[in-house]
Amino acid sequence: MSTPREPATPPTSSKSAKHVKVVIRTRPTSEFAANEIKFDADQKSVHIHIPKGIDGGFINNQQENWDFRFDSILHNASQEKVYDDCGHQIVKSVMEGYNGTIMAYGQTGAGKTFTMTGATENYKHRGLIPRAISHVFREIAERPQMACTIRVSYLEIYNEQIVDLLASLPDGGDGYNTSSSGGGDAFLAVVEDKAGVSHVKGLTMQIANNEEEALNLLFEGETNRSIAEHQLNKISTRSHCIFTIYLESRSRVESSERVISSKLNLVDLAGSERISKTHTQGLSLKEAMYINKSLTFLEQVIIALSDKKREHIPYRQSKLTNVLRDSLGGNCNTLMIANIWGERDHIEETISTLRFATRMMCVSNTPEINVQFDPFALIKKYEREIKELKQELAM
Ligand code: ADP
Ligand code: MG
Repeated sequence: MSTPREPATPPTSSKSAKHVKVVIRTRPTSEFAANEIKFDADQKSVHIHIPKGIDGGFINNQQENWDFRFDSILHNASQEKVYDDCGHQIVKSVMEGYNGTIMAYGQTGAGKTFTMTGATENYKHRGLIPRAISHVFREIAERPQMACTIRVSYLEIYNEQIVDLLASLPDGGDGYNTSSSGGGDAFLAVVEDKAGVSHVKGLTMQIANNEEEALNLLFEGETNRSIAEHQLNKISTRSHCIFTIYLESRSRVESSERVISSKLNLVDLAGSERISKTHTQGLSLKEAMYINKSLTFLEQVIIALSDKKREHIPYRQSKLTNVLRDSLGGNCNTLMIANIWGERDHIEETISTLRFATRMMCVSNTPEINVQFDPFALIKKYEREIKELKQELAM
């Protein structure tokens, strides 16, 4: 809806800085490196100890101990526990009109997709996205006095190109075809509105009337993603996926020109590992270049945001940071789940993930309720009033 933005008039003054919440989740494994990785009983601190010289010092020979502290650590936690701790509160705040973002970060195999989407064939193992969908529709059912509309979008960023995973595919096509005979230009651009908010131009936002319809759209997007992966020989762990739920709600009982509109971004980031030369074999030089750069740009934005003196934040350097601009240092309640794979072989990646996660905790956002003014509803209201006045005059 192209309604002008009105300064928020929330019941309480809501604009206060909040740091990005960071939760660590471990992937369950029988090979857990219990000698090297320890968690404090408060489930907030991680200590990593690697004696110097072990196996020739497989990290480096400079440091033996690393200490980190986060909002919480979910060690061997169930999907339900992850939703209760990470998803529930953010969905509640989205219902009130705040934007929310939950992103999963970590090396390939650490459990990002399991955390976000989960194992769809097993109800108990469904991830944050299907649980958030279900929660949103439960909340709507509890608000009969509100008229709510839910839309969803699903996009993938690969090689600095944004692909609409819900765009209807041309016959026999893959939805990625950029030739004019294909389905038009399949790659989307990020544009900024007057208020400086980023939007993906032309992105499909499909209405979902109920939980089932929203889940079907999620699966449709997943299917489109795997078709394209197959056809283009892509590597899924190198792409970022963003599933967004948009809520628009207005009162059914009061005059309804006030519209609350908020969104929830659910982000499955590309694998954070630095890829070695052997892994780039078979990729074009351009692909290899973007893969290395993509998360580096995210890191640069995080570093700039954690340095309070920095004025310029390089959002425009990459599609990911441009799309997630609101979520990073903007109008959003943001939570990052840093997934770690606590085996000895992966300890280097674990340390690098925990370092990144620590930086992320320094980022502050200023979430506020998003209230818009629907001019059509206002016109309707005035028309009603004029009609009533005319009736009075005629009497
Ligand atoms: P990523 O998306 O980070 O590359 P995945 O989510 O695909 O990693 O996880 C890799 C494998 O580990 C998958 O087979 C997944 O089912 C399993 N896995 C990851 N985390 C968990 C978990 N918390 N519980 C059970 N299995 C998990
Ligand atoms: Mg994955």
